[in-house]
Parts: sequence; structure tokens; C-alpha cells
Amino acid sequence: MKDSKELVVALAGNPNCGKTSVFNNLTGSRQHVGNWPGVTVERKEGTHIHGDVALKIIDLPGTYSLGAYSEDEAVARDYLLFGQPDVIVNIVDSTNLARNLYLTTQLLETGIPVVIALNMCDELASKGIKINVPLLSQLLGVPVVQTVASRGRGMEELVEKTIAAAGNPPAKSINYGPDLEPDLEAFVEELKELKTHLNPRFLALKLLEDTEFVKDIPLEESEKEKLLAIQEKNLERMRKKWGEGVETLLAERRYGYIAGMVKEAVQEESSLLARLSVSDKIDRIVTSRLFGIPFFLLVVWGIFQFTFTLGDPLVELLEGFFESFAEAAGIWLQNIGASELVSSFIGDGIIGGIGSILVFIPHIGLLFLAISILEDSGYMARAAYIMDRFMHMLGLHGKSFLPLLVGFGCNVPGIMATRTLENKNDRLITILINPLMSCGGRLPIYILFTSALFTANQGLVIFSLYLLGIVLAILMGMLFKKFLFKGDSAPFVMELPPYRLPTFKNTLLTMWDRVGAFIKRAGTVIFAASILIWFLANLPVGVEYASQQSLLGRIGSLLAPILKPAGFGNWQAASALIFGVVAKEVVVSTLGVIHGVGEEGLVGVIAKTWTPLAAYSFMVMNLLYIPCVATIGAIRRETNSWKWTLFAIGYSLALGWGVAALIYQVGSLLGFA
Ligand code: GDP
Ligand code: MG
Repeated sequence: MKDSKELVVALAGNPNCGKTSVFNNLTGSRQHVGNWPGVTVERKEGTHIHGDVALKIIDLPGTYSLGAYSEDEAVARDYLLFGQPDVIVNIVDSTNLARNLYLTTQLLETGIPVVIALNMCDELASKGIKINVPLLSQLLGVPVVQTVASRGRGMEELVEKTIAAAGNPPAKSINYGPDLEPDLEAFVEELKELKTHLNPRFLALKLLEDTEFVKDIPLEESEKEKLLAIQEKNLERMRKKWGEGVETLLAERRYGYIAGMVKEAVQEESSLLARLSVSDKIDRIVTSRLFGIPFFLLVVWGIFQFTFTLGDPLVELLEGFFESFAEAAGIWLQNIGASELVSSFIGDGIIGGIGSILVFIPHIGLLFLAISILEDSGYMARAAYIMDRFMHMLGLHGKSFLPLLVGFGCNVPGIMATRTLENKNDRLITILINPLMSCGGRLPIYILFTSALFTANQGLVIFSLYLLGIVLAILMGMLFKKFLFKGDSAPFVMELPPYRLPTFKNTLLTMWDRVGAFIKRAGTVIFAASILIWFLANLPVGVEYASQQSLLGRIGSLLAPILKPAGFGNWQAASALIFGVVAKEVVVSTLGVIHGVGEEGLVGVIAKTWTPLAAYSFMVMNLLYIPCVATIGAIRRETNSWKWTLFAIGYSLALGWGVAALIYQVGSLLGFA
């Protein structure tokens, strides 16, 4: 045991093995858990207190090896190798032991203490797998703990073993065979002279497998030169003897070793694995060429039906609540003799602004509930798989579809999720088209306008908007690929996790996280914007509230003529669009401040003053035009380029205006105006 009472513990493992679930269990935090690779792209930190020991827990992105083929893998590798954790907790999917152990063998070689969490143990029985845990632990030379992270089982023991492991490096490492070992040892001996904390044997193996690795090691220049010389000499020597493919040889030996170990410690029933075959059977239909895409569309359509059927009655309740609240507040303000200005500030500015947004909580909650059930069950990974074939036809990468899916929640994490893409061009394209995915912030706009003008087929209209976003994203992606970034995309290997029954806790937590973020935005950004807009509606002093002569009206009027061809050339819509760049929900709260939540309600006012065609074109504009400020920030950070950020703003504005105008003009010709 180390003297200090703080231990740094890194969680490492393949994608989807349950790292984030373990992290959440230990730290009580609520990181997003999802049944597909690429959910965690950054490292997250939290603390777990056990007796007098504080464990600082680091959740890392999933990785299959200590190579760095994509940015999220590089994050994991760099932390494990250079971040100097005290203990690595290697989470292993016990139902897929052979593949998971590849990373394990590499971890054992780093010389850092390792504890293995044999996760998903609840699924072993149904798959007919038996693992001899003590034997496995003996073969690997490190402690092994059985866990079920999704239910919090085994966490106590995991923590105890982790604390005990600190300061005890793994007892064993792979033997690469009597023919290779002496050559390897010679290399290791020379590396021992270097001043680096990396384990020399690990370094030798790593340099044989990845000659570029030197570049990434934080070393002084002089040491680096020494290292390069040693590397060159030994590589040459070994290549002479073993041919160019030394690294393949190493990988082969490693797989061989793992296969042997699995044979010893794991017993599998001979027949096809029971659970997997159920998954397979479902997949044969759900991911088939013929039914894959129709089924996907059906699922998405189902989500909207679910959201609206259950959400509408709840929204009416909330609306009623806010109306009576506004009324009561009005009476109270009159009674205490508040001036008209103060009454308007509270009634129009605050209640009108925030209330118009908060009434959408039921819809947002239900939509995210449905999405998180799909994520957790494993269907979302299938959706990416289905779209892969489709997207390849368009010259895009199937893996790009995952960040796009995340974008439905919010474009900011969607853009961050592009870190899983290896190819720089594909990544840039995926970032640029991500804002076309209709995020949760746009939903209140759709709900407001469809409640007012499309009561009969609300779900269908909103579904069409989401679909339009996807179709345009694919079209724009193709265009960008063709004209801006030529070149091939890497082949896509997406593993399909077996279907799992979503856990109640995870699903609710994920939903609550997103709803919480929405409420937080209402209380901060949208609140501030509402107050600003209320002031603009009252200035200059003496002007009639929210009239065209107010500052708000004048700003809107400047822009309105440009919007006329798209069917919403009124100043109210124009100023809502301007302030909507702050956050898309502000479009609604601006209209709320202008029209109030009075007797007719905002929905009533919209129903009276808009035509369905103009409303549809306005919703399309909101789907497409300029991303919100937070998204713009994410684009800037992830592309690290103002040029591409400005490009994203410019093209989306042009696209939004163009498509909205097209819809309005064609619609008018057909007589819908
Ligand atoms: P990560 O990608 O390694 O961070 O994995 P997550 O923690 O996001 O989990 C991936 C999926 O596996 C989620 O659907 C979890 O609910 C599920 N999961 C995690 N641990 C277990 C477990 O022990 N048993 C079962 N059956 N499912 C689990
Ligand atoms: Mg994770």
C-alpha cells in the first residue's frame, strides 16, 4: 500500500463493456450510459471515498488496444501511459472474454497495477458460459472481481481489491516464445538506460508494433534522440531475423496466449449461445436489407406518436397552470399597487418568457425517455449499422451516423462525438452537418406551431421536419465530400452489442439529465434573453409595449423584408429568429414575451395570425438556419478553425432561407397560402 490516502484509478476497457456504469456506481455521478461505442469521448473524473482512502476515478473512452487509431483512443492511451494512474481497473465484458483480453494483456505489460472487473456476469448463465474465476486470476497474475455494473453488484469488492492492488504491479506478463524472447530482452536491456517512467519491456513491445510511438512520448530532446537510435538499431536487427512483419508476429503470439488462457478458464456450452441467437434472430429482420430502413422509420414515427399522445394532455394541464398563475400574479400586483411597468415585467417578461418554454417539459421528457430506452436496448447501434450501407452508397461513413444520432438530443455532444471518427475529412463533414439534426431545443418551436395549426397530424408534421433534417444532412454531406474533401472513407466495422433489457435506473437517469439541462437553460440563458427582449419591447421610453415602434419591433422590421419570400415577413418572427441564435428555445420565449400567455394563450395568437404554410416554412427555417451559440462554440473548438465555423454558419443560413422560401413559394403556387 502506498502511504498517501489518495489513489488515482483509471477505468479502461473496450467500448460498451460497462466502464461508465462502473464510474457512475462509484462516484454517484450521472454520466451518459449508452449501448453503443463512442458515448464517452473524453475522460471524466469523480471521487469515491472508502474508509480513509479517497479514490480519484477516471472514466476513459473505450479502446480495443493501446494503439491510437482515433482521437478517443488516443485520449485513453495517453492517460493510461503518461497520466501515471496508481491502479488501472480493467473492465472486461465477460461474455466476450477472448476479444476483451487483448487490451488486458497490453495493460499487464505497462507495469501499472491492474485489477480486472469481470463485468456482465449476469449474462453468463443464459449464454451457457462458465468462468473459473480463481483460475483466470491466477493465469493473469492480477485480482479478478465479478461485477454487474448496471445493478451495482460487486462494487464493494472491486474497490477493496483496487486499494489492495496499489503498489503491486502485475505478477505476470505474456511470454512471446523461446525464439522471440531473447531478442526482445536485448532490446529491453538497452531501453533501461532511458529516463522515462514507462516500463522498458512495454516500451520495447510498443516500439516494435508502432514505430511512430516515439513522437508521442513526452521526453527531453536528447533522450528522444537516444531512444530513436536504440529503436532503429533493434528494429533493423529484428527485422533481419523475423522479416518486416514482427508486429504481426507479436499480435499472433498474444492472441495465441489469450486463446490458451480462455480455453483453460472458460467453459462454453457446445450449442449456439442461447441469448446471442435470439439477438441474431431479431437482427435478421431488423437489420435486413429489405426491412431495415422502413423499420427504422417506423420506430422514429412511433416515438413521435408516443410523445404526443401522452404529452398533449399534460401540456394542457401545465398551460392552464401558467395562465392561472399569470392571472393570480396580475391580481396580486394590482392589489399591492404595482405600476403597470412592473406588472408587465413580471407578467409578460418573466412569466411570458419562461412559462412559454416550461410548458414543453412533458414532451421533452417523453421524447428523451423513448430515445434513452432505444439507446440502452442496443437498437441505436443497429440504426447506425442500417444507415451504414445507405451512407456508403452516398460516399459517407456509417460511423458518422452515431454523432448525428446524438445530435437529436443536442448538437453540442453530437459534435463532440465525432472524435470517434478516424478520418479527418469524414470528421469535419460530420461536424458541419450535425446542426441539421433537429435537437431538443427546436422541439418547443415545432410543438407551438403544430399545436396552433396542425392539430390533426401533429406527430406526422414534426416527424417530417426531423426527416427533412436527416435528408438534407445526407445531401449536404455528399456535396461537401464531392467538392471540399475528396478521398476515400475508411471501412466501417461496427460491432452489434446484443440486445439488452434497458435498466429502469439508467433510462430514467439519462432522461432526467436531459430534462434537467433543458430546465437549467430555461432558468439561465432563456431567462436572461426574455428579460433583454422585454426591455427591447419597452424601449424607447413611452413606446407602446411590443409594438412595431419599440426597439424590438424596429430590429425585427429591418430583417422582415428579407424573410418575406419565405412567408414570414413579419417583425415578430424576424426578431424571434434573431434572438433564437442565443438558444433555439428563445424563438418561442420571444414570441411569448411579445404576445404574452394571456387569455387566448400563445397558441391561440399563433393560430389566428399564421397560415399553416407559413408556419411550416417557419419551422423549416428554425430547423436549418444558424446553429445556436453553444453549437457554434462546439464547432469552433472541435474544428479548431474559424474558417469552418463561419462556413457552418453561412451555409446553414443560406440553406434555411433557401429551403423555407422554396417551400413557401411552391406551396403558394399550389394554392396552400
Ligand atoms: P461503456 O461504453 O464501457 O462506458 O459502457 P456503459 O457503461 O455505457 O454500458 C454499456 C451498456 O451495457 C449499457 O446499456 C449498460 O446498461 C449495460 N451494462 C453495463 N454493465 C452491465 C452488466 O453488468 N450487465 C448487463 N446486463 N448490462 C450492463
Ligand atoms: Mg462510457
